[in-house]
Amino acid sequence: MSFREKVVSLFLKDIDDKNDTKKPALLMRFFTTDMVILLLIHLVIFLVYGHHVTALLAIIAACVFTLIFYGTYTKYLKTQYVITVLGAYIWILTSVFIYGWDAGIQHFLYVLLVFAFMAGRINIYLKIAFSVFLCATRIALFWYTDHYDPYITLDPAENILLQLANTISIFVILTCLVTVFSQDQLSMEKKLIDYNKQVKEQASIDPLTGLINRRATMERVHGDNFRSKDNDFRNIAIGDIDFFKRVNDTYGHATGDELLIQLAQMFTAAVGSKGFVARWGGEEFLFVLFDMNGDQALELLTKLRRDIELNTFVCKGINIKVTMTFGLTEWDPKDDFAKVTADADKNLYTGKNSGRNQVVF
Ligand code: GH3
Ligand code: MG
Ligand code: MG
Repeated sequence: MSFREKVVSLFLKDIDDKNDTKKPALLMRFFTTDMVILLLIHLVIFLVYGHHVTALLAIIAACVFTLIFYGTYTKYLKTQYVITVLGAYIWILTSVFIYGWDAGIQHFLYVLLVFAFMAGRINIYLKIAFSVFLCATRIALFWYTDHYDPYITLDPAENILLQLANTISIFVILTCLVTVFSQDQLSMEKKLIDYNKQVKEQASIDPLTGLINRRATMERVHGDNFRSKDNDFRNIAIGDIDFFKRVNDTYGHATGDELLIQLAQMFTAAVGSKGFVARWGGEEFLFVLFDMNGDQALELLTKLRRDIELNTFVCKGINIKVTMTFGLTEWDPKDDFAKVTADADKNLYTGKNSGRNQVVF
């Protein structure tokens, strides 16, 4: 494993994309890493300027944050989160008492606010209460440092270095937190969009033939897009396989299924861009044909009927001959969809009663 991979796995270990509850672990890892790096920089600064007690405190704090980092590999994430917030809060208070206002540690209260708000499913009132609490803390710290001297007096250069390290650290951690949050939002949004699409597709497509189903057809023909289209000449036909029950009874249901699939492919190829075909019921198919008059639709369906009659379907290794009957009607724009489908159905019924294997118009 390369160094980069090791670092990535250190942060992403156990963080499963599908499980958003792991997000707090990532936030805690970024936060604690940032804190440890900052504290090590503090340590160097304090050692350089001979502040050994505060150097020791920086070591202790760094150890605590390292422990918290490794704690994120356990499953007690909520407790870890509380400990992280509490640990950081105590560190901020002690640091301001020790180094005073000018070192700028109190700005970490803002980081803590963002960090706490990202925890996920926490009651909004609790979050607001925490925000008020942090605000009160900042005011209290300002008042305190205004009245009392810090525990140690920092060298002016030391103060600048601390201020610099703290500022950079705050920007780094805020950037990390906000990035995790926005990436997470985006990926959740994408997951939701994909899922919705999938659900919609599953609800609209007939799984056997891949044609759109009855529900989706109704939606389509009643949709604005469909109505506003300039299709003055529209036709509706219902095609029904002749004696399909016999195919099932003779060769088995699976063979019947295969025949439905192959027929559906033939329909789609025959209609092409001139309309669409839907699976209307078991072995009944609805044809919606645009931009042609009834005679042209009759021609198209007659050719299709003939192709079916002449074709030998090979389903599960069995040669099957089959015919179909169609009921066709022109769709007068004044008529609603229910009326035209009823007309097409009437014609289909006529065809079935007068010898099948024909298009009735
Ligand atoms: P007709 O010429 O009068 O239409 O006769 P038919 O046998 O085709 O009509 P009927 O309505 O009696 O039978 C239709 C058959 O279609 C019965 C049913 O089992 C079969 N069927 C419906 N859906 C499916 C399916 O998804 N797969 C298979 N294999 N068979 C189906
Ligand atoms: Mg039928
Ligand atoms: Mg039939």
